[in-house]
Amino acid sequence: GATIGIIGGGQLGRMLALSAARLGFRVAVLDPNPDCAAAQVANQVIAAPYDDPGALGRLADASAVVTYEFENVAVEPLRALAARVPVFPPPQALEVAQDRVVEKAFLNGIGIPTAEWRAVDDVQELDHAFQELGGDCILKTRRFGYDGKGQATIRQRSPHADAFESLGSVPAILEKKVPFEFELSVVAARGQDGAVASYDPAENVHSLGILKRSTVPGRVTAALAAEAGDIAARILEHLDYVGVVGVEFFATTNGLLVNEIAPRVHNSGHWTEAVCLVSQFEQHVRAIAGLPLGSAARHADCVMENLIGAEIDGALALLADPDAVLHVYGKGEAKPGRKMGHVTRIVRP
Ligand code: ATP
Ligand code: MG
Ligand code: MG
Repeated sequence: GATIGIIGGGQLGRMLALSAARLGFRVAVLDPNPDCAAAQVANQVIAAPYDDPGALGRLADASAVVTYEFENVAVEPLRALAARVPVFPPPQALEVAQDRVVEKAFLNGIGIPTAEWRAVDDVQELDHAFQELGGDCILKTRRFGYDGKGQATIRQRSPHADAFESLGSVPAILEKKVPFEFELSVVAARGQDGAVASYDPAENVHSLGILKRSTVPGRVTAALAAEAGDIAARILEHLDYVGVVGVEFFATTNGLLVNEIAPRVHNSGHWTEAVCLVSQFEQHVRAIAGLPLGSAARHADCVMENLIGAEIDGALALLADPDAVLHVYGKGEAKPGRKMGHVTRIVRP
């Protein structure tokens, strides 16, 4: 069969590779680590930096279509790649999602509300923005943040210079801290024909900046689910998107705010492999390969929990629960904060 190229060989690349294999595709993975999580299931591993032009060229030569599993892929090499082989999601979508200022300006520009925010490039701008926004804020690097890294809470008396320096004195965004009731996310897909399929939202709980638990449906009402699905569809259409996207929201007493967009399969959608006809991983493969999208319908309520660090020890014992679906990423060392696997449990009525 044709080969799908994946930039990035972490657990998301691995799960994409498994789904691609099930549809008869071959998989080539580009990752600096030849022992990356996806290497065990890929047909070919190109061990090189993600932005290495020669390695990207080899990936293009090997692949019928190229995708990526994380948002910090450099956009310019990706655009060059897209001149040789179809690249999905399109580089312009990645460009929007990987810079929090561009992302929020895009969202607000198409009428989607977010936390109030200001771009801050230095401590003077930070002081000024803090005065303007008023109240507690969160300072985030514009780029390269994940799992809550690159963030600092700013309160009235916090020394702003320290906070700015703690993030490396790089271009940043100051966001008003949202007093949310809970967090939710929608994983949705858009095909090459423009069809959109949206999974039910999950209620998400984070711990130390890392997703801990996704509950479906959790506290998400039918009305809220419809609104979140509509917002995700609007984002997909405006970005001329192809593939799976994760859209993170805050539920507030005044309605939904979008927190951020992830231009890839999303941790809060891992439960789809257990209770949906077509998982987010297969849906992404279908979309980028130009195949029809599958049903995103769900046949059970469920709770997905990440197994982080040492929580992976003895994970196979979880199989004693017949309603548990376990996924182990096959990573080496169970370092603290490292995502090692996840388990989805069916919730019976
Ligand atoms: P991810 O791993 O999801 O990509 P990230 O590093 O990009 O995470 P965010 O999603 O921006 O970080 O923030 C992580 C978490 O911090 C959010 O899920 C939320 O719990 C909290 N948070 C972020 N921004 C705000 C805000 N403006 N107000 C309140 N809480 C926030
Ligand atoms: Mg993020
Ligand atoms: Mg996030």
